[in-house]
Order: sequence, then structure tokens, then C-alpha cells
Amino acid sequence: MSVSSKETIACRYCGHEQEFTLWQSINATLDPQLREQLMSGELMTFTCQSCQKSAEVVWPLLYHDMEREVMVHIRFDESLSEGQAPEADPVEDFMLSFTLRTVASRNELVEKVLIFEEGLDDRVIEIFKIALRRQLEQDAQEADGELMFSACGESEEGEKEIAFVLLKGEGESSFAVPLSVYEYFAENIRARLPDPEEEAGKWLRVDGGYAMAVI
Ligand SMILES: [Zn+2]
Repeated sequence: MSVSSKETIACRYCGHEQEFTLWQSINATLDPQLREQLMSGELMTFTCQSCQKSAEVVWPLLYHDMEREVMVHIRFDESLSEGQAPEADPVEDFMLSFTLRTVASRNELVEKVLIFEEGLDDRVIEIFKIALRRQLEQDAQEADGELMFSACGESEEGEKEIAFVLLKGEGESSFAVPLSVYEYFAENIRARLPDPEEEAGKWLRVDGGYAMAVI
């Protein structure tokens, strides 16, 4: 079940106050339209009825995919430093087999959802991102910014690809790598990763810090 509350929010540009629906919890399986709105950014966009300007409003939100047994929680704790999971989130019995992730932004949440929906392992993706960034640096390409998984697709030649986007300020650049390169990498790195069963039912922050600790 998805849970929401109505809050009065002031526009950050003109101060106009209006009601806004904050979703504390989204069940993507039961409410796919809420998943759509979350992924597009609509759910977290406040549009002022007075000055018409929009701004992103981000708050703690729990994302639940019953089908894939995945939960992703956006949290903003100061304790949420790289590689460190906050302790407060409870794990109920039905969640013991779940993949549980803590993230610090909507972008990170969207990325996790896309990764899990493609059936990929976010731990491998994070390690692959480190290698990818090194490769960009070696090629003297822009490598600063937030590197995110974006999609699996096909090149014009019909070759399967895995695509990433590099976010920097307002700008972004995207690039794709042959899926076979990623799969070869994943095959080699998997032995170093903890057994998924060992990590099931535990809230993990799988980010660059987690990846660095593994390699
Ligand atoms: Zn306004």
C-alpha cells in the first residue's frame, strides 16, 4: 500500500503557500502510476500556482517493488556517509529475502529502480562505474560528476549495450558500453562480492564507497 499526507508548502521563489501531497511510501507493484510519476520527477516537483515556477521537493520516501522483492529508501541522515548504512530502518520478517537499499537522492533511487528492473546487480554496477571513470580519465574525457546507470539497449548495429549518464551541474553526457564488456567484467568481479544471501534482508548503502571497500 502507498501512503501519503497533505502538507502546506511555501514556494521558494514567491512564498505562496499551497497544499502538496507527500508520499511517504510507494508500492510500485500496486500503484504503477505512482512509480511512473516518481521516475519522471513529477511526484517530487512542486509547481507554484501563483508564480508558476517549479522546484524539486525531496523528502524521505520508501519505494517498494513486491514483485522483485526490492525496497529502496531515500534518507537524508547526516550519518549517511559513503558506504555506511544508517541503522534505524527496521527489517520485518517478510523482508528477510529482500534486497534493501538506502539512497540519498531521487536520482539515486531512480538509478536503483532501473538497475533492479533490468535484473542487474547494483554492486557490480558501482564497481564498473569506478573502472569506467578511470577509462574516461585515461581517454582525457570529462569524468567529473555523478555517473549513473541509465538503460540497457541496442546500438544502431544491433549490438546490446549498457548506457550510463554523467551528470554535472545542469549538463549531462551519456555514453554506452557493449553489454558483453560489462558481462565479462561482472563475471570477473562476482567472486569478490559477498554472497547475496548474506546481504539479503540488510539495509545497504551500495555506492562508490561500498565499491571501493570491495575492490
Ligand atoms: Zn511561487
